[in-house]
Formats: sequence, C-alpha cells, structure tokens
Amino acid sequence: MKLKEDYTLASCCNPAQSDNIVGYYSHNNIIKVHRADCSNLQKADQTRLVSLEWANILTEDTPKPSEDFDGLTETDFAVLLHHANFGVDYSLKVAAVLHIDKQAVFDSHARLRDMGLLERVEPRIIQYRKGIVDNRWIKHRNHTYYDLTSKGRLYLEHYKER
Ligand SMILES: [Zn+2]
Repeated sequence: MKLKEDYTLASCCNPAQSDNIVGYYSHNNIIKVHRADCSNLQKADQTRLVSLEWANILTEDTPKPSEDFDGLTETDFAVLLHHANFGVDYSLKVAAVLHIDKQAVFDSHARLRDMGLLERVEPRIIQYRKGIVDNRWIKHRNHTYYDLTSKGRLYLEHYKER
C-alpha cells in the first residue's frame, strides 16, 4: 500500500484498508490517516479533521509507457519537458516560451490531457504555489493551467532514454 504525497499513516492506530479512516491536518501540511475510531482523534482539534476514502489517497500502480507513446509528436515531448522544468503553466505561455504556434500547443495540451500525461490544475492550487514563490497572493488569470502527471513524467523519462 502506497499513499499519495502529503498523506501518511498515523502510527498510533496504523489503519488497514479494511478500516474506515479519517484524516488529520498536521502542521507541516501532511495529512495523517487514522482509523475512524482512533481514540486520539477524540482529543484532536476537530476543525482539522477531514473525511477520507482509501480510493482517493492510494497511488495507482506505476504505469508503463505503452503503445500510445509512439503516437506522441516532438511538440508533445517539448510541451511535457516544459512542464517538467517549469511546472504548472497554460497554453499561451507555453507557446511563447517554446516558440511554437499557439494552436499547436492547445492541441497538444488537449491530447496529452486525454492521454493522462497532463492534468488540469485548479486555480486555488496555482494561487498557493505562486504565493510561495513571490510571497504574495496573486489573482488567478482566466487560463486553463496544466501540470505533468506521474504518467507524463514516466513517458518523458522513457523519451530521454532513447
Ligand atoms: Zn490514530
């Protein structure tokens, strides 16, 4: 059993997948996963508790590059590489940085998203990340932001090795 980043099993009750679980936001932004009936939770700050389902916090098995890998274009890999280097970004910006036609980047983003190599990122998360970088809250601009998925990262590594 492998949990997604930011989740960790609480050592007090060490929940199993047959248990109902509850999360507790600890101070370092890690969510500790407790059994729902863990006695420590009754002493805990109730406002920090969050309901959890196993299905949402377990990582999927590591995907392997499959046949669709060969269908990717040089533009697709350039876009994936851009996200690997710069993280969250939106189509017009990627087009400007890579000097690629913006429609080509829009198409690539849509295709890569369909393939599960990129994912849309919620504006809330963007604000959080930008806030860390320049230490202030920025307003979300009306763009669709994308970031690399773990599958996208895997494809990119496979591409670099060839
Ligand atoms: Zn516990």
